[in-house]
Amino acid sequence: MSTPDLINGCFEAVAALMTLNHSRVLLRDKAVAGVSVASMAFFTLWGVWNLWFYPHLGQPWSFAGGVLLVVANALYVALLCRYSGVWTWLRHAAGGVVCRFKGCHFDTPFFSTNALYFCTRCGKEITGRTFADLQPMSDEDLEHIHRLHEIYEEDHAHG
Ligand SMILES: [Zn+2]
Repeated sequence: MSTPDLINGCFEAVAALMTLNHSRVLLRDKAVAGVSVASMAFFTLWGVWNLWFYPHLGQPWSFAGGVLLVVANALYVALLCRYSGVWTWLRHAAGGVVCRFKGCHFDTPFFSTNALYFCTRCGKEITGRTFADLQPMSDEDLEHIHRLHEIYEEDHAHG
């Protein structure tokens, strides 16, 4: 057993604890700011490389610490993906490919001039409009929405 290996293994293990602290803060704030998911993914990849590298150098303690660090980093990256909206973005990107072949998916029978309609698969606006293109709502429209809201509330009060 070599002392430098033991010391390095301790650094790896403490780094794992520090990364768990990042995860703790992220779970508390539930928002990603001032940190790049891609950078953290890179550090995780580096850790994975070390899992091959340390045994190759005959450094068991560094390897053990390295395992902890990779697990902590992978957890942190997964949480970053969740709270930064990367999953949503990936789902929409993958949906966009499906939509190119099958067409966009939506479930409204008609288009109102004062609402936007988004594809449930890729998130694209169906009629290609933006908020700036919308017509203002009439009193009747507002009343209709109000009525729908009341029906919804009643359903949920009894359900
Ligand atoms: Zn679509």
